[in-house]
Amino acid sequence: MNIDPPLALLAEITHRCPMRCLYCSNPVNLEPASRELDTATWLRVLDEAADLGVYQVHFSGGEPTARKDLGELVQHAAELDLYTNLITSGVLLESEDLFRLADAGLEHVQLSFQDTDAAGGDRIGGLKDAHRRKLEVAGWVVDAGMAFTVNAVIHRHNAGRVGEMIELAVELGAGRLEVASVQYYGWGLKNRAYLMPTEQQLDAVTEIVEAARDRLAGVLTIDYVIPDYYARRPKACMGGWGRRFVNIDPSGRVLPCHAATTIPGLTFDTVQDHALEHIWQHSDAFNRFRGTEWMPEPCASCDFREVDWGGCRCQAMALTGDAAQTDPVCSLSPLHESVRVLAEREAGAGTETAVYRGAKKESVLRDLS
Ligand code: SF4
Ligand code: SF4
Repeated sequence: MNIDPPLALLAEITHRCPMRCLYCSNPVNLEPASRELDTATWLRVLDEAADLGVYQVHFSGGEPTARKDLGELVQHAAELDLYTNLITSGVLLESEDLFRLADAGLEHVQLSFQDTDAAGGDRIGGLKDAHRRKLEVAGWVVDAGMAFTVNAVIHRHNAGRVGEMIELAVELGAGRLEVASVQYYGWGLKNRAYLMPTEQQLDAVTEIVEAARDRLAGVLTIDYVIPDYYARRPKACMGGWGRRFVNIDPSGRVLPCHAATTIPGLTFDTVQDHALEHIWQHSDAFNRFRGTEWMPEPCASCDFREVDWGGCRCQAMALTGDAAQTDPVCSLSPLHESVRVLAEREAGAGTETAVYRGAKKESVLRDLS
């Protein structure tokens, strides 16, 4: 098989994060700081990524600004002519940090907002005063002249304010807004019943986004990630397994997507053991679901198999217990109807119980108040 180089490297440089978003899709068992790759290894990995043909580096986490060497990594990536993007909650940044990152060559910032007001945002993000700090950071990003995207994750408790989120992104001076639905992995999966929106809510979100796209053409680009559980066709997760993205976790494991560790039986090579190009071409984890040969029916004979690449392997794992199944959000999957029933049941139940990372079992949403 001819394997093209990846478009982008997702560099998860740390799992540490002061926020505790109820929808966080990071693994429930996070890598501790003691297992994080050191600076020299990340610099070497950036060299290898550039040699491999990677075009963009997304520094993410956890909260990537928790690492003191972020500026050094950004500068090295910029010197290699890699497009640099920082995916951040913003809550650890001071203005001088941001201007230093801009000087180091950072080109783009994606700043997450959990809601349009402090009460809702801090509650979902599990951190007091986070929303106010994010508003400040947005101003610095604009002042520093970097390209700016607002990331907003939509769920049952903020779907009614998507119009306000769009207005907030415009007011903050963002050029792009990413309206994403919760990906039900990690804490998102644990808190799925709390987060699941109703279909009516999502229809309203879609209508508002489509109207805003026309109204704000040339001002704000809106990317809208359609929610999986109510969809009829799955998304081409990661642009297809092992096709566009390579993800490196804080300890150096190289993953086809950041939830891939939820799939039992996959072996993940590490950057300590092999060069990135070798892993991209030859590793078991990348080749297991690459292309179309692994596909079961109905995918194997489906006209969409090279459009959505069979959907999401981690979702198939989470919902069916078998990562090699057709993604059950697809209407052609025999399990599709049960996914819709599950979504409607969880949204309809309206549970108000959710658990924060690090909280004691009995300590749920109330622990912020
Ligand atoms: S989703 Fe929230 S808790 Fe998870 S890494 Fe991002 S900011 Fe931190
Ligand atoms: S059957 Fe498979 S390839 Fe066809 S649309 Fe569904 S998930 Fe995609």
